[in-house]
Amino acid sequence: MSYATIVRYLSIALTWAVLVDDAEGQAARAQGHVFCWPTPLPVSTDTPWESFVQPTASGKPASGLFGNTRSGDTQFHEGLDIRPAKRDKQGEPTDTVQCVLAGRVVHIAPVPNGTYGRYVVLEHTEPGLRFYTLHAHLQRVAPTLRLGATVPAGTSLGIMGRSDNTRGFPKERAHLHFEVGLRLSSDFNAWYARQGYPEPNHHGNWNGYNLLGLDPLPFLRTGLSLGRPPSLATMLRNEPTAVAVFISTNQTPRFIRENTALLTQRLPARIAGWRIGFTWYGLPHRWTPLSSPPTQGTGQRAMRLVATSDPTLLRKAQIRNLLARTPQKARKTQALAPGDSLSNTLGMLFPPTPR
Ligand SMILES: [Zn+2]
Repeated sequence: MSYATIVRYLSIALTWAVLVDDAEGQAARAQGHVFCWPTPLPVSTDTPWESFVQPTASGKPASGLFGNTRSGDTQFHEGLDIRPAKRDKQGEPTDTVQCVLAGRVVHIAPVPNGTYGRYVVLEHTEPGLRFYTLHAHLQRVAPTLRLGATVPAGTSLGIMGRSDNTRGFPKERAHLHFEVGLRLSSDFNAWYARQGYPEPNHHGNWNGYNLLGLDPLPFLRTGLSLGRPPSLATMLRNEPTAVAVFISTNQTPRFIRENTALLTQRLPARIAGWRIGFTWYGLPHRWTPLSSPPTQGTGQRAMRLVATSDPTLLRKAQIRNLLARTPQKARKTQALAPGDSLSNTLGMLFPPTPR
């Protein structure tokens, strides 16, 4: 066989693979869908979640859901694990993973390097809000996918798999880890460098630490029932506040400039501080600018925390490490203090100002 013939056969094979890969996405687009389920599983608004969730090795169905669903409810899972619909003869999944709504491809990790394995992140916008969907543990990334491209709902992102930071997990538990959330810092590398971690950051702003997820299931279900993307800002505004942070600062974080839909009122001419409401899973969902300082002294050392009195919400917030100690203990000893995850989030939102 001549070199030219080999090249021709190879290009035919590649085209064929791309066509098959994209067939389901094209079908979704042809039907004019602007919102779809991320995999080929036939999920509708009333499908019981037990039928599409992939549990961990524990076998407990809820372990594939978002929240404090693992290790006796003490470990947090920031996404939704979706099981495969189809497998090949070797038992590996063949499901196409597709984007659920139109967006821009902002990160492609084609080589497993971290707990997400191979993964793809898309950026989406709605009035006053930028949010992200993340698709992890892929077997391979769609060869047609280009960084920076704007793609419609239903575009193939890759094939479902079981890649992670090691050699992958067992094929019986292959799944799509799906996240939807907001980006905390637009200069995550600077925050990461300040922490002094031994490992380099391989993923820039698309490191999982920098993406704060909310529960993907209500988001997906609402989108399916509406037949279009739901308003994430409305969903976030409707969440209860677990912890409120009062901080004196004249900084207006880039996060809130990019996500003005989370402001409870217009920005005053001069900022003296903020009241920031956090959901129990640590997302800063309600921002109130203050025109007089709420604390004596400025910055994180002088901030004041107010916790919810709802015991269920409080317990969840504590597992998520928003608070360093219980409000009961805090009353006896000293004021409420932020837990590790809240400290990290505030550090990303309010980077040290150059002197
Ligand atoms: Zn997961």
